[in-house]
Parts: sequence; structure tokens; C-alpha cells
Amino acid sequence: MSTVTSRLLEIREHIPAGVTLVAVSKFHPVEALREAYEAGQRDFGESRAQELSAKAPEMPADVRWHFIGHLQTNKVRQVMPHVSLIHSIDSLRLLCAVNAEAARIGRVADVLLQVHVAREETKFGFTPAELSAIAAEWKPDDTPHVRVRGLMGMASLTDDTTRISADFSAVAKAYNELKSGLFAGQPSFDTLSMGMSDDFPLAIAAGSTMVRIGTDIFGAREY
Ligand SMILES: *Cc1c(COP(=O)(O)O)cnc(C)c1O
Repeated sequence: MSTVTSRLLEIREHIPAGVTLVAVSKFHPVEALREAYEAGQRDFGESRAQELSAKAPEMPADVRWHFIGHLQTNKVRQVMPHVSLIHSIDSLRLLCAVNAEAARIGRVADVLLQVHVAREETKFGFTPAELSAIAAEWKPDDTPHVRVRGLMGMASLTDDTTRISADFSAVAKAYNELKSGLFAGQPSFDTLSMGMSDDFPLAIAAGSTMVRIGTDIFGAREY
């Protein structure tokens, strides 16, 4: 059994039914992705448009590609033919760009809004306060070619598990408020993407429905 296969089997034991595992394959070669595919993995996460569009044709057509990195509006066109869920919508401008491209090619794009709760200044996303106020600027009907499926969040880069859990709880709170507010009556608003290799058990405890795990499956990345 390959290392990727055994790591994948080990991780799956820690992921309850109802939580989707996205194997974050960025910076890893297609051979590693194929091993994961052979072990039954179908959801893969990439963070760069160029890399996604190069790998997608090399993999079987039933792979579901997740875009998890910062997406520039001028890269939307490159990503759209491949992607099944964009996790990283961090501005209304990007949301509108995705809507326009999806309309152009005649599809509806599934997306998540990225929430910023971590204390690092550099992370992208909407703050919970911005999400609470978003209905003043935007309603789901304004962008009929995107379907907002939920939220994506990351915890602070710290060993302090209390802090990490507090960050995940803040994302879950924003999710639940939108689910019973702006997206009430839309059962497709059903996805809370949070949790990475170092913190996914805490994310699941806080209500995550989708974890994004790279290092624990494929090993360390060489940038
Ligand atoms: C790289 C990345 C991951 C995976 O991180 P690991 O620590 O390798 O599991 C998850 N989410 C996002 C947004 C990432 O950029």
C-alpha cells in the first residue's frame, strides 16, 4: 500500500459521516493525486489557477475540483471549466466576476464566501460583521449564475487550541446566522468548510461539514 493510500485510510477514520474530505493536492504531482484517486478519493483542492487547469485534464473526469486559494478576477475564466466548488470568494467584486463568467458559459457556479476571523492581517475574506451587513449590498437573486453554498474559514496560525476553537465557533456562528437569515429557505446553503491538517478535529467539533487536508495526506509541500 502506498504512503498516500495508508495516510488517507488513517484520516478517514477520524472524519465522521456527513463531513466531506477535500484532499488538498496543491504543489503535489499528478502521480500522488492518482494514488489518492485509486484509494477512492474524488474531491481534490488546488490553490492556483494555472496548476488546476494543468492537472484537471490529467485526472479522471469524475474528480470534483475545489478551488481554495485567493482567486484573481482575471483567473476566473481559467478556473471555471474545471471547478465544482470555489471556496474563496472574498469580495462582492469577485462574486460578480464569477457570476458573469458562469453566465457566459451557461452554467451555475457553486461557491463559498470566505470568512476572515483569524488574527493574521493578511488573510482574505469577509469579516462576520461584513457578512451580517451583506444584505444591504447584495441578495442571492442579484447573481443568478452563482449558488452560494456556505462559508469557508481558517483559524489563526497558533498552537493555542482555545483560540483556534474560538475562531471556528465564530465562523460557525456567521454560517448559522446566514442560514436562518439571508439564505433561509435555501437548502443548498449547506456547506461549512473549515479544518486543515493541524486543526480539523477542532473544526469538526465546531460544526464543519467539509475539511481541507493536504499535508496529512500527501506529506510536506515543496514550494
Ligand atoms: C493549503 C491549504 C489547506 C491544506 O493545508 P494543510 O495544512 O496542508 O492540510 C487547506 N486550506 C487552504 C485554504 C489552504 O490554502
